[in-house]
Amino acid sequence: MSTQRLEGVEAGKGNRVKLVLGENPFHPAGGGQPGDSGWVEAPGLRCRILDCRMEEGAPVLLGEVLEGTPVPGAEVEARVDEERHHLLARMHSGEHALSRALEKNVPGLRVFKVNVDTKESLITLRWEGELTWEVLFAAEAEANGVIRADLPVTTRVFSREEARVDPDLKANWDRLEGGKEAPESLRVVSLGDYDKVACCGSHVERTGQIGGVLITGFKGTAPQWEVRYTVHRDELLEAWSRPLRRLVRQVGSPPEELEKVYGRLQEERSEARRLLDRLRPFLALPFREEPRGEASFLRLVLPGLPLDLITGPCKETIQEDPKRLVLALLPDEGERSPFLVCRGAGLTGDLKGWLKGHPELAARGGGSPDWISGVTQERDPEKWAKALKEVL
Ligand SMILES: [Zn+2]
Repeated sequence: MSTQRLEGVEAGKGNRVKLVLGENPFHPAGGGQPGDSGWVEAPGLRCRILDCRMEEGAPVLLGEVLEGTPVPGAEVEARVDEERHHLLARMHSGEHALSRALEKNVPGLRVFKVNVDTKESLITLRWEGELTWEVLFAAEAEANGVIRADLPVTTRVFSREEARVDPDLKANWDRLEGGKEAPESLRVVSLGDYDKVACCGSHVERTGQIGGVLITGFKGTAPQWEVRYTVHRDELLEAWSRPLRRLVRQVGSPPEELEKVYGRLQEERSEARRLLDRLRPFLALPFREEPRGEASFLRLVLPGLPLDLITGPCKETIQEDPKRLVLALLPDEGERSPFLVCRGAGLTGDLKGWLKGHPELAARGGGSPDWISGVTQERDPEKWAKALKEVL
């Protein structure tokens, strides 16, 4: 907490406000890290600070007024949310360790963008190779070694010339070499002698304070990849191990066998599909047809059959005679029975819109004006047939 003079106040939409303090204790956003949050208060005045950003070279607080009216020249108490500040510093310092471990372990890999947040953070990288969990596990283990080594984290300002000749320093050289934008000096953050990088974020004092990093996922295709990670390592490992332990008991295989079991299940599933495909041409489904004017209404009720099996025959039915409306209901033991409604090109009417107008069918699904499918709690075909009279 520090006492400050309010040097600038700019009212925004609603209760939004921009504040400038005499000596700003909030760390501004930068380098992919959001700015500090906190409070600016005085008797009769309460402002929640949501972010701090550099605007024209000066830090500006973005907040909302909860009580009173801030006026320039007023004396206020500024309070940074230290818990969030420290968490962002841990996340950001963890990113330094993880990014450098990835770059050291994988030749040609370059981290070029970072989004630091409190719950989970994101590293965007470029690499021509195929990113795998094995690559990520190795980098994660190395980063956690750096964290356990409890290296000092130091910040020093380098001149542009000094920075340019340092072979270990990682910086955005395009910006350094490029005309007006190039800064005269650089803030350089080091993790012992493991990593040295130009950075304007906030950091811990020793790597041990990071606690640990855990990669939570990754996506992308070569050459651009996104890696998600967090410093909430122990909590998350504990939380994730619970469904895993449940699954191990349910499947009856040790954790290291689960991937193999899943692979086998997928194989069996595609084998079953192939079998169905071979069977399909020989299936004659028991449609019940009744004329309705010049058109006809066909219904098919087959308890327990999968939707996959009947979509082909339904399609053929409406192609054979485009003046047909087909209802297929596959009542299941459970709450959700699959259904399908389709019509031939010789009929009009929007089935998708029709379904929305019939909440009594308790159906969930969608499709197009001439073809809808999904699941329903209404297993009585008479109720469906009655509602479908609107269409035919
Ligand atoms: Zn940093």
